[in-house]
Amino acid sequence: MDYNIILFDADGTLLDFKKAEQVSFERTMRAFNLPYSHSLYCDYHTINDGLWKDFESGLITKPELFIERFRRYTEKYNLVADAAGLNRFYFGQLGLCGYLLENAAEVCRKLSRDRRLYLVTNGETNVQQSRFARSGLSPYFKDIFVSETAGYPKPHIGYFEYVFGNIENFDRSRTVIIGDSLSGDITGGNRAGIDTCWYNADNLVNESGAVCTYVIRSLDELFDIL
Ligand SMILES: [Mg+2]
Repeated sequence: MDYNIILFDADGTLLDFKKAEQVSFERTMRAFNLPYSHSLYCDYHTINDGLWKDFESGLITKPELFIERFRRYTEKYNLVADAAGLNRFYFGQLGLCGYLLENAAEVCRKLSRDRRLYLVTNGETNVQQSRFARSGLSPYFKDIFVSETAGYPKPHIGYFEYVFGNIENFDRSRTVIIGDSLSGDITGGNRAGIDTCWYNADNLVNESGAVCTYVIRSLDELFDIL
């Protein structure tokens, strides 16, 4: 297929968010003279994951979640620290973490020679723009679209309408979205009427109902299908 517009998800597709989270948490704990270990981090992560589920169920707002995760964590371990201050510092650190996943730079460099690449990412605008700037990928991309600025997250159709409205000479039939999330990227692409490519590095089974035009297990495979 002759695609000339490629929409790339960021986290879990090009950028290593897991590493960014862990490093940012560790730096935050050390900066506030709080204990750090891998098992403490896993515990924080469990609290964080639970709150994200509450957010998806509409039980908590995002600003509440950001502070509440550190409030619950510090309370559990009787740590004396300001949760809002911890979260602020954590976000600052996150913005410095533009770690790439394997092959991401090389694949983007080659694809950008004759196609237009755009980053389509959920998250906080400042954090995502800062991480992207540090990743070294910016020269290969025409633009970055962050959900906070769009006013909607993937897979909301409003997000895709915002993206399409900001791409010059947009052609739906020559556009593909590539991402690791069936619920965000692939479902979003389905709703928006564009082709989809699921980056399924862990060889998971798709039981979601989301329709993938292509499935790849490594980014290199993009050269065979695009
Ligand atoms: Mg992702």
